[in-house]
Parts: sequence; structure tokens; C-alpha cells
Amino acid sequence: MTIALIAHDAKKELMVQFCIAYCGILSRYTLCATGTTGKVVGEATGLPIQKYFSGPQGGGEQIAARICCNEIDVLLFFRDPNATKSAAAEANDMTLLRLCDVHNVPVATNIATAEALIMALERGDLDWREIGNPAL
Ligand code: PGA
Repeated sequence: MTIALIAHDAKKELMVQFCIAYCGILSRYTLCATGTTGKVVGEATGLPIQKYFSGPQGGGEQIAARICCNEIDVLLFFRDPNATKSAAAEANDMTLLRLCDVHNVPVATNIATAEALIMALERGDLDWREIGNPAL
């Protein structure tokens, strides 16, 4: 199973702390991330992470493409609700979330939901993703 990580700038430290805290669980999965998020999490945890372009260079869109191919099983997307973003950047974020809904990918946009998803992974609640999506 593959987990994708994306954190807006104001949430990168939170993502790093989250990944340190759950390093043991995360290490059992394949990880990928947008460029800067992957860099800071990789440096802090030592976890192997496939890094895509940085967000402004299209890293989120690369992850979106993988979501469309059913290659992403969980998205942890720590958004900054207070960031002033360009309309284009906001639209890209919404596209990412929309595609998670289209393809029934569990997605967390804050640490509370991320913890719930990690606990669900640990319990095996998301193992259905490996055998096929019952909603499809
Ligand atoms: P980044 O991209 O990890 O390269 O900073 C995340 C974002 O879209 O802000």
C-alpha cells in the first residue's frame, strides 16, 4: 500500500512531527510526497520517500495522476486553512481532494483525521484496498 504526503508550508513541521511519531507504522508502507514535504520528512525520519516535484512545480498533480491510476491508498494532505493562495493553487488542491472522492481514496486534511487513518491502517481496516474497492 502506498501513502502520499503533502503539507503546506505552515504545516510542514506538523507533518514532520506526525511522521516521527508514527515512523514505525509508516515504515511498513511505500511512501511518496511532494518535493519539499518529502525532503523534510525524509531528513527527519530516515524513511525512504519517493519525491515528486515541489507543489508549485506540479508535485500535487503528479500525485493526483497516481490517484487516478489507483496507485495511492491513503493521502495525508495537511492543508493550511489560513494561507492566501492563488486561485490556480487553490483549484489544484480542490482537484486533488475531488479525485480522492472520485476514486474513494481515504484522505486526511488535518492531524486528527490523519491519526484516525493511521490507527485504521494499523488495525488492518484499510486492507480492502489491496484486494479491491468494495464501493466500486
Ligand atoms: P511541497 O508542496 O511539499 O513541495 O512544499 C506542497 C504544496 O503544494 O504546498
